[in-house]
This record gives sequence, structure tokens and C-alpha cells, in this order.
Amino acid sequence: AHVSHAPKVVLMGLDSSGKTTLLAHLLRGQVADTSPTIGFNVGTLNLDKNLSLTLWDVGGQKGMRPNWTFYLDDCKALVFVVDSNDPGRLPEAQNALKKVLSDERLRDVPLMVLANKNDLPSALSIEEISTQLNLPSYSKRSWEIQACSALKGLGLQQAFLSVCTMIK
Ligand code: GDP
Repeated sequence: AHVSHAPKVVLMGLDSSGKTTLLAHLLRGQVADTSPTIGFNVGTLNLDKNLSLTLWDVGGQKGMRPNWTFYLDDCKALVFVVDSNDPGRLPEAQNALKKVLSDERLRDVPLMVLANKNDLPSALSIEEISTQLNLPSYSKRSWEIQACSALKGLGLQQAFLSVCTMIK
């Protein structure tokens, strides 16, 4: 039987950033597990032949870091979800992002930041979020930031198409 090897994309973000909601949308009507993510990988989703997604919750998971490394093997892109309406947690998000990107295996891996919850009027701009996450400091890395609403399904298709383009 033909086995498809979709590029592996790892989806990370602090708890409550909207990863579960985003996955539910990507599953388009299929039953998604909407129970709170419990601090580690909840599985790999094969979206189609072009993409497989592994979800990680990196909020408050100090002891979990050794386990990340297994899931970073063969990772072709990192998608990092942030809550655009929670400026108070951007320093924590910045720190989590920096930690994961320090893994040697992610050295040449492109980064897509999803500024989620853009449907809310108080959402920070992507410029503001870029600054807060120190994205300009990742000058040697291919990175992008896009606004989206996992709740309304806005911006997701464009974002994942961009991810496919970044992987090449
Ligand atoms: P996770 O912990 O990263 O999996 O986050 P969830 O998907 O559970 O979302 C946390 C909360 O944010 C839930 O109440 C969601 O309904 C809400 N949420 C997620 N995405 C959006 C969005 O795009 N817009 C709005 N307004 N709320 C969202």
C-alpha cells in the first residue's frame, strides 16, 4: 500500500490560545476532541497529503520540555498560535517560542505565527505582536505572522497554504 509522508507541521501555543478551536475548524465538521488539552501532544492529524499536524500545548508545562524533543524530529514547520487579545501573556508566549526555537533540529525550520482571535475588537495588530514576540530578532529564519480567527474560520486556509509554501 502507498504510504503518504505528509510534511510534519507542529502546532504549538499557550493554553487558551485557540489550538483546539483551530483544529476543530480544520477537521471541518468531523468530531473533534474539545476537552482541554492536557499539556502535551494530543496526536497527529493527517489533514491531507500535503500536511500532517501535531498539536502541542506549551502553556505552564515546565516539566514537559524533554518530551517536546521527540515530536520535533522531522518537523518541517512550526505553527505558533497566540491570543491577540491577551497582551498580559505575550511575554510568556515569547519565552515559550524562544525555548522551542532553540532546539537544534528547528534551526532551519520556518515559523508561522498565528495571531488568533482577530475577530475581537481589542485584538492587537500583527505589528504589535511581532514586536512583543521578538520576531524581528529571528533574522536568519524564514518566519511569517498572519491574523486569524479560529472561531470564525477566518484566515486559516491562507495561513496553512503559506505554511505549505514556506516548506517548499
Ligand atoms: P487551546 O487551549 O489553545 O486549545 O484553546 P481553545 O481552542 O480551547 O480556546 C480557548 C478559548 O478561546 C475558548 O473559549 C475558545 O472558544 C476561544 N477562542 C478560540 N479561538 C477564538 C477566536 O478566534 N476568536 C474568539 N473570539 N475566541 C476564540
